[in-house]
Amino acid sequence: MKKIIFLDRDGTINVEKSYLHKWEDFEFEKNVIVGLIELKKLGYEFIVVTNQSGIARGYYTEEDLTLLNSKMIEKLKEFEIDILDCFYCPHHLEKGIGKYKIDCSCRKPNPGMIFKGLEKYEIDIENSYMVGDKLSDLEAGEKAGLKSILVTTGYGKNIEKECNKKYSVAKDLLEVAKIIK
Ligand SMILES: [Mg+2]
Ligand SMILES: [Zn+2]
Repeated sequence: MKKIIFLDRDGTINVEKSYLHKWEDFEFEKNVIVGLIELKKLGYEFIVVTNQSGIARGYYTEEDLTLLNSKMIEKLKEFEIDILDCFYCPHHLEKGIGKYKIDCSCRKPNPGMIFKGLEKYEIDIENSYMVGDKLSDLEAGEKAGLKSILVTTGYGKNIEKECNKKYSVAKDLLEVAKIIK
């Protein structure tokens, strides 16, 4: 059974820039590489679960997103960090265009992407976590039965106070590793 850290992407792995879709604009958040290395040492593997309503809105395509994600995965591989899988939600009920305008079960806070991971891999839910910078990440994790941790990178700094009674709070992924340890 795999112990998994489900990771939000924007604001958690990379610096939040609205509707980021170009590798030139991609910037790792602080302590992401060292944090993931520490978590790997603790026996965790990684699955990315990311809301990408920019696709629904027509700002970029699924191909753009897949290319960006593969660049990110390649870069992390240089540090011997493997991303087991990347799941994304391309939908948005109000702002979506065409086939993307649906009330889906994958857009966080819905737990659909995490459930996909749980179906595809044998995962030790009790010892797995969801980490993200928004309440919707934490709620999605909770709905799937995971422990959720807020990082105060990205949007996380704005919601630290409302979250810290219910969830663990870390300043970055390195601190996530310290909390889990
Ligand atoms: Mg985020
Ligand atoms: Zn969706």
